[in-house]
Amino acid sequence: MDTVILKKGRANPLWHGHPWVYSGAIDRVQGAAQAGDAVLVRDAEGRPIGQGFYNPRSQIRVRLVTRGEAPIDAALIAARLAEAVQLRQRIGLPSDETDAFRLVNSEGDGLPGLVIDRYREVAAVQFTALGMKQREAQVFDAVAALPGIRSVVEVSAGGFSDVEGFASATRTVRGPETGEVECRENGLTLWVDPLHGQKTGMFLDQRDNRRRIAELARGARMLDVYSYAGGFALAALRGGAKSATCIDSSARALERIRLHAERNQLGPLEVHEADAFRFLEQATPRSYDLVVVDPPKFARAKKDLDAALKGYQRLNALALNVCASDALWATCSCSQLVTEELFERVIAGAAQQAGRRVQLLSAASQGPDHPTPPAFPEGRYLKFLLFRVV
Ligand code: SAH
Repeated sequence: MDTVILKKGRANPLWHGHPWVYSGAIDRVQGAAQAGDAVLVRDAEGRPIGQGFYNPRSQIRVRLVTRGEAPIDAALIAARLAEAVQLRQRIGLPSDETDAFRLVNSEGDGLPGLVIDRYREVAAVQFTALGMKQREAQVFDAVAALPGIRSVVEVSAGGFSDVEGFASATRTVRGPETGEVECRENGLTLWVDPLHGQKTGMFLDQRDNRRRIAELARGARMLDVYSYAGGFALAALRGGAKSATCIDSSARALERIRLHAERNQLGPLEVHEADAFRFLEQATPRSYDLVVVDPPKFARAKKDLDAALKGYQRLNALALNVCASDALWATCSCSQLVTEELFERVIAGAAQQAGRRVQLLSAASQGPDHPTPPAFPEGRYLKFLLFRVV
């Protein structure tokens, strides 16, 4: 087998469970490994660390798949998938209340480069690494064989395909063509369209945080900024909010919120197709008791970090202006480059800018169906900070 040998002193993170070999950690490659091939990784002393997918195009040169000696084949993929299903069952997924959840979370489930979201009887698969994409038939067959799965859909990898060097399209790959899928989250019925949505159709990582918002919503005038299909607003209405207002720049997303509200008989609801900054600049100051701000990623690369931090500060200062006194306010960042510590500092800056005093009540992240290896900060991208605004 082709072998990647690490520089002296560069194996420690891997020995501790970190699953990536960055290009700078490699001393030499023995053999003629092609992009996507399985390679063996050894430390400078020649000790075998594990096997993973090789990709000379990416800064992440190897993604470790296994620490064992068995080959990376259909049997290994099926076994890891079975383990992922078992973990979800262990944490109560699916349940009567929720059958939309993440079934496979890449490195966190020992299947690097593979994300699978489950919407009741439909599995939406997304590849983020070439090595896994090259084994797609094995993946699709294993997923299609799971009990309760009727259709398997592949969702295009977006930006990942450029970095990793593969083409991907959104299409049905096993089972009958599927349109809108009816499914449930925290007792709310939703209609998700994996073939036409953002991400795989829903932002499942916020499920537990939506439940938290529902618990805090009674009687509140709620504002959901960057609402997408209205996950937070609908949860708040279900939790007894007096009213909910949703802001998103996508007309398609807002249409979905209206449909969800109507079919779940929730209201009163207002939706605005607008840029979040523009809306907040013009909104009536101190007019909401519960505010959620959940923007798309501001920082994609290190060079964007400064601009992103400024953006977060300005956005959150604007959001603070619309918080009534004694409001609860949740603000999120899904930029992996913005650590929780950094994000808290930005929020402190926003509070100062807005002239408001805030108290941090809790800090949360993605739900347990998005597991990550420990000592792998790259995998824990979501920050959800809950404040009281005095
Ligand atoms: N809170 C949502 C997820 C938000 S994802 C949930 O719980 O499901 C980010 C959303 O921001 C997307 O729906 C996208 O359409 C929207 N968006 C992107 N840029 C925007 C902008 N400038 N103003 C308002 N919305 C924007």
